[in-house]
Amino acid sequence: METAEAGHADIIGWFEHVSENACKAQSETLRRILELNCGVEYLRKWLGTADVGEMDDNTLETVFTSLVPIVSHADMDPYIQRIANGETSPLLTKEPITVLSLSSGTTEGRQKYVPFTCQVTQDILQMSRLSAAYTSRCYPIREGGKILEFIYAAKVSKTPGGLSVGTATTLYYASKEFKTKQETTKSFTCSPQEVISGGDFVQCTYCHLLLGLHFSSQVDIVASGFSYTIVQAFSFFEENWREICADIKEGNLSSRITSPCMRRAVLALIRPNPSLASQIEEICVEMESNLGWFGLIPKLWPTAKYVSSIMTGSMLSYLKKLRHYAGGLPLVSGNYVSSESLIGVNVDPQLPPEDVSFAVVPTFSYFEFIPLHRQKQNQQDMPSDRDSVEEKPVPLSQVKLGHEYEVVLTTFTGLYRYRLGDVVEVTGFHNGTPKISFIYRRKLILNINIDKNTEKDLQGVVDKASQLLSQTTQAEVVDFTSHADVKASPGRYIIYWEIRGEAEDRALEECCREIDAGFVDHGYVVSRRMKSIGPLELRVVERGTFGKVAEKFVGKCGSLNQFKTPRCTTNSVMLDILDASVVKIFRSSAYD
Ligand code: AMP
Repeated sequence: METAEAGHADIIGWFEHVSENACKAQSETLRRILELNCGVEYLRKWLGTADVGEMDDNTLETVFTSLVPIVSHADMDPYIQRIANGETSPLLTKEPITVLSLSSGTTEGRQKYVPFTCQVTQDILQMSRLSAAYTSRCYPIREGGKILEFIYAAKVSKTPGGLSVGTATTLYYASKEFKTKQETTKSFTCSPQEVISGGDFVQCTYCHLLLGLHFSSQVDIVASGFSYTIVQAFSFFEENWREICADIKEGNLSSRITSPCMRRAVLALIRPNPSLASQIEEICVEMESNLGWFGLIPKLWPTAKYVSSIMTGSMLSYLKKLRHYAGGLPLVSGNYVSSESLIGVNVDPQLPPEDVSFAVVPTFSYFEFIPLHRQKQNQQDMPSDRDSVEEKPVPLSQVKLGHEYEVVLTTFTGLYRYRLGDVVEVTGFHNGTPKISFIYRRKLILNINIDKNTEKDLQGVVDKASQLLSQTTQAEVVDFTSHADVKASPGRYIIYWEIRGEAEDRALEECCREIDAGFVDHGYVVSRRMKSIGPLELRVVERGTFGKVAEKFVGKCGSLNQFKTPRCTTNSVMLDILDASVVKIFRSSAYD
């Protein structure tokens, strides 16, 4: 059997080769995608009967990019809906699509499905191995060690046509590739499958922590998908460590774990361990009283070499807290991935998250980049106002250092010239492939965890709730804004409403519930169900508050005519005005 080190050398050798020949790798990738799927309805529509097999690389790329249009999810949605409804003729791919994955974001207020094939789980495996190889060069770990991994699989459901639907991570954790990854990297997750797919954030987190502590002497890595989850898990630990400790002492499991199969699986792994329990207790008492939980991770997991998760983009807001828990332990920022395609690997794991960029892996998809020139930024710090002027897309080989681009993907799963919606900056090159850093997601305004809601989503749900208010009361909404409260634990959305007229509390409570339930973005729904995002709050402000906000900001904006209430704000001056004017607060009961 191959050692982990030999496996690491193999995969790094492979990546060095494809990145040196990135341009060639891209041409070959495009050719493979088109040959695999030639003749499918979507490609026939744009390429007609063109024989891609007969074309040289340059002609192929020119024909493809001049005939096939750049699209967004809304354009692909009718095809994906037909697949979801059970149509089996080759629409996007020749091989039938039997599984759909739920990407974050929505299309016209509906959940966003993207095709999923075994190619995706294989690519995730390839990416994990590549990443493990680069990271182990900086931070070597033991073979056979453990990872305290805060990972959560949601439920797999069925479409009307009988296809399975789940998030890409849910589908991956249930795949054989997830097992293969542990075997080839020779690092094993502490928690069994029954905990990973337990479906309740609190119960799963409790078990992840309990098992992480039970195996603490073997833990090399503390990890999660996005860093929000690690921060949530340890803030839960601060409140509940005594109960966890008691379970370790007695080899028992708290009655708060109600899932029988999770109970069985955890109880089968643990044994009473009074000496470990008293060590943990001593450390926790000291951390609680004197240290404010600084360095919690290395104190409780002294053999851990690093903390790993996605820490870039919107996750930067949790970095301070993560550093606090990590003490001096290195933070290794996770790769750049999406449900549509894997994108880039972090080849510099030693860099702090603020400086991390990702080397594009040119075999995962055919990548194009739309050059963007940002317009002057609005004073109100609105991501949706940061939209930019676009130019003609360029291939991977033509991106320029320091320039910003929107990523466009052509994937093995049947997305052709598909706008991902992410804006990246080219920060360097790894051999012949660009290194890109994530800048922001276009049009995104509300984002705490894996949820992603745009201004349009917000407007849609608030409109519905406003209608409900005017139908059931003598009141109407005059103006509104929102805020993603990442300081609360767990994080939550806050909606500020100014209303005119009289409204009973019960009606407003119902509006609050309606808004919370109205966000159908799968990332939000799953996070709310699992309680990793807290109940949405509706804060009613006194009459005239938005007028005060406008007055305050007009100075900066120029003229009152030009002022538009931002639909989401992180501006502390604006939040102070709003919070000082709150007359009533309602908490949603939508997911109670
Ligand atoms: P999803 O569609 O739910 O699979 O989420 C994928 C999206 O998450 C990407 O399109 C990015 O907007 C964001 N994302 C993924 N990886 C990173 C990363 N390393 N840094 C910042 N944002 C990321």
